[in-house]
Amino acid sequence: MTRNDELFARAREVIPGGVDSPVRAYGSVGGTPRFLVSARGAYVTDADGREYVDLIASWGPALLGHAHPEVVAAVVEAAGRGLSFGAPTPAETELAELIRTRAPGVEKLRLVSTGTEATMTAIRLARGFTGRDLVVKFSGHYHGHSDGLLAQAGSGLATFALPGSAGVPEAIAAQTLVVPYNDRDAITGVFAAHPGRIAAIITEAAGANMGVVPPASGFTTFLAETAHADGALLISDEVLTGFRAGPAGYAGVLHDAGEPVVADLVTFGKVIGGGLPVAAVGGRADVLDMLAPTGPVYQAGTLSGNPVAVAAGLATLRLADADAYRRLDTAARAVADAASAALGAAGVPHAVQWAGTLFSVFFGESVTGGVPDYETATGQDTAAYGRFFHAMLDAGVSLPPSAFEAWFVTAAHDDAAIERIVAALPAAAAAAAE
Ligand code: PLP
Repeated sequence: MTRNDELFARAREVIPGGVDSPVRAYGSVGGTPRFLVSARGAYVTDADGREYVDLIASWGPALLGHAHPEVVAAVVEAAGRGLSFGAPTPAETELAELIRTRAPGVEKLRLVSTGTEATMTAIRLARGFTGRDLVVKFSGHYHGHSDGLLAQAGSGLATFALPGSAGVPEAIAAQTLVVPYNDRDAITGVFAAHPGRIAAIITEAAGANMGVVPPASGFTTFLAETAHADGALLISDEVLTGFRAGPAGYAGVLHDAGEPVVADLVTFGKVIGGGLPVAAVGGRADVLDMLAPTGPVYQAGTLSGNPVAVAAGLATLRLADADAYRRLDTAARAVADAASAALGAAGVPHAVQWAGTLFSVFFGESVTGGVPDYETATGQDTAAYGRFFHAMLDAGVSLPPSAFEAWFVTAAHDDAAIERIVAALPAAAAAAAE
């Protein structure tokens, strides 16, 4: 029995499933999750003392690599001045100003602690602003675990959604309409079925929680135009893509592609906390000013804008310069190209999809024509991914333990880290082909 096995058995006695967030339990790939004890740069070390090249990056936040010395120093310095005050601090305004400078359409923003809170607050704001209740979301898009956003498609496209989890009341799921991504007719259909009743469309800026599924050219513009024509808002969820898909998030990628979409509300998380809990809801000043204490939409948080977390976020964003994004992009392209070459050589059908610097690899015959939506994503060969995942893990590379996740590189993935990944790929591709 390894130390990881022992720790997992002990954790399961006291923590449901042994984990504090479900995907960490290796449920879809099987085996014992690695209990991590430290991380630095591109590497993580488990409780058995084994080192892995990390392609999870804390599910996104570790943009610069783990434990960047300047980020850690900023955290230590802030902690020495106090862990939490429950009062406004100068650094919160600095972080808000920095995000506003970089993110298109963000005039004001409020800091919260998790992406779940950010999207939950965005929905409440959209409802408060429009005086409407219904929300449109896309199949396969994840916006955290608030009740109304854990909804799954009902029987028809324009019908109300069903609970996506036990414990979500039907009446709450019924406030959500779930439609396929990249499907203009479905959007037109829900607005035609419920005119004047939809408060907002919420979309991931680029889908990245069913594997990476970018919006088709013009699709996000179409969402903004359709929402606005009916008096509804567009909420762009950049919790995952923000300051990771590119220096200005996926909004910046779209802008560079000649599609400058400005959403009414934008949510952030992950990178803006640099590994500590910071997230934000931002957007139009007239909508943000609906929040208490200036407006009637209530939202609050004991630890919102926590000074230690904000110090980590500020240091991370300040270090995330053009050079950091160049390294991130170079590393991502190198890993994706090598993975695709190895899978191709082993005869494993696959597809690589991109959203800025973000990518994922889909496995299986049915994905080779491209993956535009959740239905296609769910057709992938998850068993092949599981074999690939375990072979990589055995060779010292830690991939996301699910076929439906982006592969996260960091700006610290240097040549040495990439060589280790490349060396592991042929055997893993052969395992996937079995
Ligand atoms: N929105 C998106 C696009 C996400 O990817 C996530 C988490 O992965 C969330 C919201 C929820 O964020 P958190 O896990 O911080 O609550």
